[in-house]
Amino acid sequence: MKMDNTWLIEKAYLRGEFIDAEKKFDVLNPATNDSIGKVPDIPLAQVEQAIVYADKTWNSWKTTPIGERSKLLQKLYQLTLEHREQLAHVMTLESGKPLQESLVEVDYAASFILWFAEEGKRAYGDTIPAVSSENKLFTIKQSVGVVAAITPWNFPLAMLTRKVAPALAAGCSVILKPASQTPFTALAFAKLAQHAGIPGGVFQVITSTNSQGVGKLLATSELIRKISFTGSTAVGRTLMEQAASTIKRTSMELGGNAPFIVFDDADISAAVSGAVAAKFRNAGQTCVSVNRFYVHDDVYEQFAEALTKEVSQLKVGNGMDDGVKVGPLINEKAVEKVKKHVEDAVGRGAKIQTGGSHLEGNFFSPTVLIDVHPDSLIATEETFGPVCALFRFATEAEAIDAANDTPFGLAAYFYSENVRRCHRVSEQLESGMVGINTGVISDASAPFGGVKQSGVGREGSHHGLDEYLEVKYISYGK
Ligand code: NAP
Repeated sequence: MKMDNTWLIEKAYLRGEFIDAEKKFDVLNPATNDSIGKVPDIPLAQVEQAIVYADKTWNSWKTTPIGERSKLLQKLYQLTLEHREQLAHVMTLESGKPLQESLVEVDYAASFILWFAEEGKRAYGDTIPAVSSENKLFTIKQSVGVVAAITPWNFPLAMLTRKVAPALAAGCSVILKPASQTPFTALAFAKLAQHAGIPGGVFQVITSTNSQGVGKLLATSELIRKISFTGSTAVGRTLMEQAASTIKRTSMELGGNAPFIVFDDADISAAVSGAVAAKFRNAGQTCVSVNRFYVHDDVYEQFAEALTKEVSQLKVGNGMDDGVKVGPLINEKAVEKVKKHVEDAVGRGAKIQTGGSHLEGNFFSPTVLIDVHPDSLIATEETFGPVCALFRFATEAEAIDAANDTPFGLAAYFYSENVRRCHRVSEQLESGMVGINTGVISDASAPFGGVKQSGVGREGSHHGLDEYLEVKYISYGK
């Protein structure tokens, strides 16, 4: 695919226009560490202006009939699919993920726009039989107001549309602050939003390296009524504290530490395919990536051997190259964390079945570790890299206890052919999402989100629309 540089837009998108700034910062290609371009480092004074403008435009957007808002979103959906290749290209350049994965992400991201273009029409209220008066009681749903959205680098488009599409459908205006590692995908999307006719100011994109300053400004502003964040638990905690000052609504999609349990009655070959899908997408840098594999004693060797065979065949390289399945990690810091986790596990007795080494630059070899000690760092922290850590268990209760022994609770997976066990185990796992006999769970029509320190709120599905709506109760006297 030939690169079309017109889609690397080196300007922020404010008040419906692409604007420059005196200070700019480089965006690096994780595969080469070369700069792919510069974007403006927007000063805080301009962020304040953007907030005021978003508030002004919210007033007209919220009263725009949903039929019209829906048509604009449908146009945006079509434009996103028409520019699938350009968006995927930009995404691979700045995030490093294999081009094929970027194409799949564009489709997934677009599916949220279509879903919410439709679901926005179903923001129904209730009529309520009054128990203690003759009043007529009913509810209506209204847009929350100006929304601040802060997104991570690992899914530069999907994390964005999962917030922006329901917010716009609900009648909110949105100020987006994408990760400084991956602003170009968001800016390319802004160009499509402009072409689709989404009014200027209803959707704005701030590019900045001052994430702390911008985050604080957005989280404490009186004019912003909701903050929706996807990223690490540490930053989510800070934003929640800051948002408390104005009693803002928050949605927090935070870190995970997903368990993957293989029971003795599992279809092992299906479990291996599911494991590879759930572990190696985006080189293991997804919030729902498996971090801990718990495998029953009776199938441990069989599973470990089959998984090692699959993992050792994964092609590592620049995401732009054909056949590459595992791209680079996002930066050197990410490589250091993965290295540290592997060294720590090996130091506690784990054995490397395949991989285990830092290749050049930001590349790390796909790795399988067996006999990992439960106290290893890899068991307690999100590794965010291409490493499978295998632990043993003997009983179902032991597997569930180990899986739940974490402050996180985003995704959990297990493989079993026993239908009673499937019900029992899925109810006992402390996570917002459970995959049974599958390693791929994301779908625009399903509620995505975590429990415990993995977050609050849900994205996708009708629950994802409610995050941007207030329920107003009206009592009508005789
Ligand atoms: P991160 O460091 O928390 O960054 C996420 C976003 O927050 C970026 O836009 C970042 O901007 C910004 N940010 C950083 N510090 C901030 C601060 N003090 N105030 C306000 N904003 C701030 O997380 P990450 O390393 O990019 O992403 C990986 C994490 O996201 C993992 O833990 C992963 O599990 C989680 N995640 C969760 C979900 C989910 O749905 N639950 C989905 C994807 C990822 P800069 O990059 O410009 O600093």
